[in-house]
Order: sequence, then C-alpha cells, then structure tokens
Amino acid sequence: MAWPTIVKDPSGFRVPPNVRDLELARGSFDWAQARAHLDGLPDGRGLNIAHEAVDRHAVGPGAAHTAIRWLAKDGARREVTYGELKERTDRFAAVLAALGVEAGQRVFLLLGRVPSLYVAALGALKHRAVVCPLFSAFGPEPIHQRLELGEGRVLVTSRRLYERKVAGLRDRLPALEHVLIVDADAGDLPPGTLDLEALLAGVSPHYEIPPTDPEDPALVHFTSGTTGQPKGAVHVHEAVVAHTATARFALDLHPDDVYWCTADPGWVTGTSYGLVAPLALGVTMVVDQAEYDTQRWLDILEQERVSVWYTAPTAIRMLMRADDEVVAGRDLSALRFVASVGEPLNPAAVLWGSEVLGLPIHDNWWQTETGAIMVANLAAGDIRPGSMGRPLPGIEVGIVHRTGDDEHPGLEVVDAPDVEGELAVRAGWPSMFRTYLHQPERYAQCFRDGWYLTGDLARRDAEGYLWFLGRSDDVIKSAGHLIGPTEVEATLTAHDAVVEAGVIGIPDPVAGEVVKAFVTLYPGIEPTEALLRELHGFARKRLGPAVAPRQIVVSDALPKTRSGKILRRLLKARELGLPEGDLSTLEGGSDPEASS
Ligand code: ATP
Ligand code: MG
Repeated sequence: MAWPTIVKDPSGFRVPPNVRDLELARGSFDWAQARAHLDGLPDGRGLNIAHEAVDRHAVGPGAAHTAIRWLAKDGARREVTYGELKERTDRFAAVLAALGVEAGQRVFLLLGRVPSLYVAALGALKHRAVVCPLFSAFGPEPIHQRLELGEGRVLVTSRRLYERKVAGLRDRLPALEHVLIVDADAGDLPPGTLDLEALLAGVSPHYEIPPTDPEDPALVHFTSGTTGQPKGAVHVHEAVVAHTATARFALDLHPDDVYWCTADPGWVTGTSYGLVAPLALGVTMVVDQAEYDTQRWLDILEQERVSVWYTAPTAIRMLMRADDEVVAGRDLSALRFVASVGEPLNPAAVLWGSEVLGLPIHDNWWQTETGAIMVANLAAGDIRPGSMGRPLPGIEVGIVHRTGDDEHPGLEVVDAPDVEGELAVRAGWPSMFRTYLHQPERYAQCFRDGWYLTGDLARRDAEGYLWFLGRSDDVIKSAGHLIGPTEVEATLTAHDAVVEAGVIGIPDPVAGEVVKAFVTLYPGIEPTEALLRELHGFARKRLGPAVAPRQIVVSDALPKTRSGKILRRLLKARELGLPEGDLSTLEGGSDPEASS
C-alpha cells in the first residue's frame, strides 16, 4: 500500500534547516568537523559530556539563559539557568569526591523527572562516575536486577521511592554504599541514607572537571527489554559528539529553540535527547514531571511555545484518539518540527500530523546500542510516510545477510534496492556502545566484518529511504513469505476505525505460521461482526491473501513497555500459552506516585 510522499516546500521554512540537502551534507561531513562544534575541556584535558552540556554555556550572558524549564505535577514551574545548573552540578561532583567515589564507579538515579535528576546525572559525569538512570516506576525487582548488574555504589533517589522500593533490598545490594535522598526534610531521613541537600550545602561551589578521556565510560543504559532481558549498553564521553551532531541534523535544533523531549531519562531517548544533546546545544528544554495526559500535553505545547517536539508513536496515537477539534483549537504556532522514535510510526500518524497539527511527524530510528539517531526524516527532506528516513551524515547503513555458520561467520552486503535483510551500521560512530555490561561475548556477536548488526530487518528503496519490517524475532514466516509486522500494522491503522495494531505469527500446520492481528479502536467504535469483516476485507485488498491477517481480534489495549513499545513477544506468549519472559519493563500497574 503506497502513501503519497509529503513534499516539502523549500520556501516554506520559518527557520533555515540545519541540513538543506542530505546528500551534500553526507558528502562533506566527517566526525572531526562535528567534534569542532564542541569545546573540549580547557588546556586539552579531553572531552567531558557535562562540560559541553553545562559549563561552556555558563559563562557571560549565557549563564542567565534558561537550561531547564521544569513543570511540576502540581502546576508549579521552575526555571533553572545554565549558571545555576553549573553551580549545582559542581557541588554534586564535589559531594561524590567527598564520599570517595572514584572515576568509573556507577551512580544510579531512581527519580521522577525532577531537577535533581538532571543535576545528579551531570554532576556525576563531571566527576567521571558512570551514570545509570532508572525509570522511577520500576518495581523493586527490576531495580534490584539493574543495581546488582551495574554494581551501583551510589543511588540518588527520593525518600518515598527509597522507602517503598529500595529499603527492603539493601541487604541484597552489598556494593551499594551511599544512598542520597533528594527531598529529605530535616530529621526525617530513612536509616542508611544521606541528605543530599545538606551535602550539597557543605561543599565548594566550584569543581574542576578532571582530565577526561573521550573513551572513559559515561553512561550505562538498559535496553527496553522488548525482546527479552534488558542488556546494559555502555557509552563513553565521546558519544556527545554524536548526540549534538544528530540533534542538529535530525531534530533541527537551533540555539533559540524551546524544545520538549517527552521521553524519561530512564530510557536512552530521555538521556541522549532529553538531557545531553539539548543542553550541549544550549537550548531551553521543557521537562514535565507528569505522565501523558491529552489536555496537559496540549497545554504544554501551546503555553510553553514549544518549537521542537520529540515524542513517540504511542503518544501520537493517544492524541489521535482525542477529538481533532481538541487539538485543532490550540495555538500551536510556535511549533515548527515534530519527530518520533521508538517503534514504527504508522503512515496514518504521519498524515494526522500534517492534517491536525499542520506539521507532518518525522520518524527516526536508532537503538540504545547506537546511542544516537542513525536514520531520520529531516526537516528539509521529503517524507515517505511509513519510512524511517535516510542515514544521517557520518552514518553508513547497510542491508546485510548473515552467511556461514557460528565457526565461520560471514556477511553479504546487499547493494540492490528493495531487498529485505538485516539493518547494519558501519562500526565506528562516536556514540556506538562500547560493550554490554558483563557480557563481552554477546557484544562481540553483534559485530561482523566491521558492521554492527542491529537485529532489525529493513529494506532500502532506490532513493535510499529505509523501511522497517520488524525485529528479526518478530518477523513472520508464512508459506514461504517473510512478513514484517510493520507493514500489516501500517495497513490496519490506515482504516478509520483502528488506532493501533500489534501483529504476530501463530503456528499453522499448512503455512508454518499465519498472521494474527490485535487492534484497538477509536473511542465510540463498536467491535461488531460487520466491522471485523470489513477490516479483513480492507487488509486483504491492500496486502493480498498471503500477508493479510487470518485472525483479527479487538483489544482494549495492547501490552507495551514503559517506553511505549508494543510488546509483540508478549502478545505471542499469551496467545500460545508460553512463559511470558522478563516483564520488568512492562507498562501497567503504573504507580501514580512513582515519580514523587
Ligand atoms: P531490547 O533490545 O531489550 O529488546 P529494545 O530493542 O526495544 O529492547 P531500545 O534500544 O529502546 O530497546 O529500542 C530500539 C529498537 O526499537 C530498535 O531496534 C527497533 O526495533 C525499535 N525502533 C526504534 N525506532 C524505531 C522506528 N523509528 N521504527 C521502527 N522501529 C523502531
Ligand atoms: Mg534492542
């Protein structure tokens, strides 16, 4: 099924895009040039993410510029300037020094989106500790699993989160020495913890960042756990080169933007693009403490005059469920660029953006492992709805087939267009993960012939646009066809009744597997027999009988990760009565007080 290309009018840009012509930019780009956009530590003492994100902006008039515009759940707001952020992060680094924390040791963050989270992350980076942000809605077991795997020496958290989730784990976490409570009231400190504010007040407001090798580890991010147990991807300070370059290219960030990334720093998007990149580029970023709420989100876009918005398909689809008038009645005139990441962005969602927001949604693709956006639809590029876009400058992407066997692994790089295969990225970009924590063999297995193998399947069309088929684990093999769930989901969501679809393969004695779809409907639409018949016909007409779903089931909601990705492996396990596997990142049972 083909959707019309969205053609951009070059005279229609309010702000000149950072990349006007992707091919030209690719041709002239090299990473050394991207590195030149950054300062580096004074006197050639290396490269530190926190210097780029904070200190270099906190001089002269830049010190008074707002770094973080924080919106509290209860309606309060607070502006944190670059100058203030410098002092707070200097103090935090000094606190770690006073506690005897050494370079390379892990500082875990278990906090909602409050200013202290950003201070702790950046302060720890200054001290060259390794930052591991956790999602605050995790229950005790996922927290334990990650703290243990990462041998966290320090945990920064709130009183409430500590008492409810961590206190009971302490004796199972021998490496965890210091717990810093961000909101301790005097005299009300849980046993075995320290009052962070008191510590911050007691140290020097100046901290000199020690020499930092660009290869020093900076961050550990756990993957979303969509396909199995989360893995800890290790990133280094050099990654900031890719964070900033890609945010300029793929998010089109300019210094005077008001930028809002809706992802939580517990996920890589919320750190690379909700913390490091925007600050390193000196923009003002909005941080909302609350979770998704249609009215609230529209209020933020309108009242904060957000100009660049980076969000996820699940959020777009939640907005699509609201009445178009609810959105169309807003003054979103400040908004000039919208991007999405995390899972396939169905074409209907791209087009909804054009129709209702007046701006198409720009899909882009990357992973925890890649650390930064690799493939994107750009502000100045035409959009082929359903495509993830094209590789960014500095990124070489290949469609590859694994050949040989475990002993003699080989790789065939496919040159011809429109051939399906595994998406691979030529190793060596700055934000490439450097290992999986305690799993070096697993890391090594991700690379072949100088390519990083992503585990995602895609095809590239003749103009270089990449089309996501599905994760290799999710692809369906039916009667000799390889069916990507993405294409089937894109088609079902093109029907007016369907908001969201999750597609899996179920065993079939004849075809091997057949396609089964789970769909959610727009509010007010009844799942009648007639509608189901219509959906079957709609899908068959567009996909053909071999690919169209054999079964379509209407659900109230699809199981998702906390970062909003449809958990197809769980749909399948439930369907087949198989073990459900690691569910630590499953959304639901959501904890309303999680982020306090
Ligand atoms: P795990 O590796 O633990 O199974 P995960 O792969 O979901 O979890 P992330 O690193 O957060 O963890 O997600 C990256 C994956 O998300 C990609 O490999 C891809 O499968 C999917 N993804 C990200 N962006 C897109 C996109 N624009 N279109 C389609 N899929 C996407
Ligand atoms: Mg993954």
